[in-house]
Formats: sequence, C-alpha cells, structure tokens
Amino acid sequence: MQPVRFDRLKKVLCVGAHSDDIEIGCGGTILKLLEEHPDVEITWVVFSAGGVRTKEATASARDFLRRAAKSQVIVKDFKTSFFPYQGEEIKAFFETLKAVQPDVIFTHYRDDRHQDHRVLSDLAWNTFRSHVILEYEIPKYDGDMGAPNVFVPITRAHCVRKAKLLMRHFGSQRDKHWFTSELFLATPRIRGMECASRTLFAEAFYSRKLQLL
Ligand SMILES: [Zn+2]
Repeated sequence: MQPVRFDRLKKVLCVGAHSDDIEIGCGGTILKLLEEHPDVEITWVVFSAGGVRTKEATASARDFLRRAAKSQVIVKDFKTSFFPYQGEEIKAFFETLKAVQPDVIFTHYRDDRHQDHRVLSDLAWNTFRSHVILEYEIPKYDGDMGAPNVFVPITRAHCVRKAKLLMRHFGSQRDKHWFTSELFLATPRIRGMECASRTLFAEAFYSRKLQLL
C-alpha cells in the first residue's frame, strides 16, 4: 500500500452509486487535485443513472473533470435502491475496474445508511485489497454523519464551484429540500473547522488503514 501524496498520484478511481454522489462526496477534492495536478488520470464511475439522470451525470462529470488531461466517465444503469439484490451483476462489473490500477479510490462510507452506498463501499474493499481507499460522506435524511478522520483542505472557491455545478447539472434533484447550495457549503465548513483548515473549508473522508513513511 502506497502512502497518499497528491503530487505523486497518477490514477484516481471515483465510485458513486447515484448520479450526484461523487460530486457531493469528493467534488471539491477533485477540483483541487486537478487544479494542482491536471496530469492525474481520473476514472469516474456512476453505478445507477437512467433517463435524464444519465445526461445529468455525464454533463456534471465533464465539468468537474474539465482540467483533467485524461479522464474516463462510465455511467451504468443498475436499479436505484436495489443494489443489495443485484449483487452478482454489480460485483462482476466492479471486477472490471481492477484494470484501472488506481493509486487511490474514493467511494462511499462503510456505515452509510443508504443500502446502495454500502454495497459499493464493501465491494471497493473486496475488490481492491492493497490499495488506498478513502470513504466520502453524503449528508442525508437518515442522519448518518459521523466523525471522519482524513481531511482535504479546500478553498471557499472550490466549495462555491462545487455547489454551482451541482445546482446547474442536477435539475432532477432540485425539488429535494436538502439539495441546496447552503448544504454544500455548510458541510465542508464544519469539516474545515474540525481540521483547523487555513482556508476554513475541507472535505472529509474515512480511512481504515494508511501507511506512514
Ligand atoms: Zn447516493
């Protein structure tokens, strides 16, 4: 397992169950990473999008990855909310992602209360045995925000850009009362406070194991 250094990353794999998960969970980190290291190759995989959400997911990913020299966006149409019951098909597809050979994987939090999120988190650990996995958080009704232990300081500009892109691209979600710019700024402000970020903001992740050198 290699230690994580942004300036040494070559390949990053982002995995999200639904069309806006990667953006909400680690969008600011990806914006920052590509601003500083545009040569990093990003593979961005959304497991469940259909109809209008496919277009939304693709357009949003394109904007978040605009600075990337090389990127790949994969949008699948596994049935939302039924991931635990489509395990075999999802696992079979997940196996194909081994070919990406990522240095770091961003995926869902192991104890996330959404069943689709948990399936992908478990499969990430199941599939990538000696990789660095960082689990992101998704605020939701269920109230499963915990105490993450890895922080990536980001600027207010990153947060504003992330919120703007989310609001611009995900029209199908705008009627949900939680889907607001305020939430997308408030969460990183709290995490920024927790890690004493000089820029005030941060995105936060869960790490199960990291190698120190
Ligand atoms: Zn989701």
